[in-house]
Amino acid sequence: MPGPPRLIGSEIYRRSSYGGRHPLAIPRVSLMLDLVRAMGWLPDTAYIEAPRATPAELSRFHDKAYIAAVQRAEADQRVDPEVSERYHIGRSGNPVYPEVFSRPATACGATLAAVELLLSGPDAPAIIHSPAGGTHHGRRDRAAGFCYFNDPVLGILRLLDGGVQRVLYVDLDAHHGDGVEDAFRDEPRVLTISIHERDRWPHSGALDDQGPSWRNLPVPPGFNDSELAFLVEDAVLPLGGRFAPEVVVIQSGADGLEDDPMSKLALSNGALWRAVDRLRTLAPRALVLGGGGYNPWAVARCWAGIWATLTGIEIPNRLPPAAQRLLRAVEWRHSLARTPPERWFTTLIDPPNAGPVRGEIAAVAATALGTVKAAVLVRGLEHRRA
Ligand SMILES: [Zn+2]
Repeated sequence: MPGPPRLIGSEIYRRSSYGGRHPLAIPRVSLMLDLVRAMGWLPDTAYIEAPRATPAELSRFHDKAYIAAVQRAEADQRVDPEVSERYHIGRSGNPVYPEVFSRPATACGATLAAVELLLSGPDAPAIIHSPAGGTHHGRRDRAAGFCYFNDPVLGILRLLDGGVQRVLYVDLDAHHGDGVEDAFRDEPRVLTISIHERDRWPHSGALDDQGPSWRNLPVPPGFNDSELAFLVEDAVLPLGGRFAPEVVVIQSGADGLEDDPMSKLALSNGALWRAVDRLRTLAPRALVLGGGGYNPWAVARCWAGIWATLTGIEIPNRLPPAAQRLLRAVEWRHSLARTPPERWFTTLIDPPNAGPVRGEIAAVAATALGTVKAAVLVRGLEHRRA
């Protein structure tokens, strides 16, 4: 019998910030943890404090000289221009901040600990939630998109090293899961599926980029709850079912929410909760990660709701006073915070954003569902077959 779900977090997120006006200068994991505790949803037995991944563990995917450069950046609190140029540390949204090594290494430690636990035998939990994880842009030898290391890649590699034969990775973040897709393009034991806003940074993951080990579902601005449910039911579940994974890894970035300032997608958190709840049925074991999310209230409420969903807890319409006090105490230096709607403090549940499923969404599903042939068709390279 599998054990009950576990939540892996870390206190490092309470005292660490990317600093200044960086989009990640907001509480996310710490606020989510405080919120689920205030709700009485996190017994001590369900919580695990994440270890920090060692350089040796990080080197399973990352370049050793790069790992050393991130460690040195933390020690020196500065980088030389050549190092910045070579490794994209201290530029391109990847600042040097006090925990520039420790914090991302902890996200990797959380995901690796989650994988160890998932693989620990018949009594292992079937579901682990690691909201600090999901740093899907990190590259082997450079930082990218606020990600210094890539915990999903490290976690999937450890699953494979542990003997797992098929891993499905589904990325719900508003940005393309490029780092994970690229790491496993030539790996038949891993299928990556990314739903993301089209024409947004990192500008990869186009509709005509489909392959045997990867599928891309780029979606237009205004992407609504009904459209996400459609893509999950009509594309991701059939693709995932066909692949028959032993483990599903779900990246549940919250930047596709209507309340998030970083994307033009328009999801309510309920749409993400339902998506995660459906996707986890694709395999006997599930690892649910975090990801993007740049409105502290939206992220914490969304991820608290994911934990409730994974543990079968019914989410009340109105938050109890202790949870409301927590949310009201948050400070966010953003224009959206000047007139915050009352619902950011009083409820976890966003107003649903159901709507029509646009024709282009159906086309995205059809293309992703098709074989390589569909991608070739789109590229206009189709040739006659005997
Ligand atoms: Zn994102």
